[in-house]
Amino acid sequence: MPEKDSCIFCKILAGEIPARVVFEDDLVVALEDINPQAPLHYLIIPRKHIRTTLDLTTADNAMIGHVFQVAGKLAHDLGFAEDGFRVVNNCNEMGGQVVWHIHFHLLGGREMGWPPG
Ligand code: C5P
Repeated sequence: MPEKDSCIFCKILAGEIPARVVFEDDLVVALEDINPQAPLHYLIIPRKHIRTTLDLTTADNAMIGHVFQVAGKLAHDLGFAEDGFRVVNNCNEMGGQVVWHIHFHLLGGREMGWPPG
């Protein structure tokens, strides 16, 4: 079975698993993370099934740029852009990745520590 067929984010994007969607367009879907690590924690998920950051190609450049524009728009529209926020991508096991469909965490609502854990 292709990995895509068992991908939980592909199932969410297809509407087969419920999620709290806060934004969507033809390239990405943004939703509330079910296990928030900050008072405000959203996932920006490309519709295209890409396994990790290492699997991106130049064909994805515009889509990835769009992800960051959506992050800024969401932070602005949801009222935490001025306070500040963080966008995170975890890649592979030691990077903390547990879902094998590329996604970007948008975190806000508290002061972020540095270095991250
Ligand atoms: O970057 P990483 O792969 O660790 O993050 C996966 C994220 O997906 C987690 O923050 C987890 O809470 C979230 N998740 C979700 N809804 C699901 C499954 C996972 O929000 N149904």
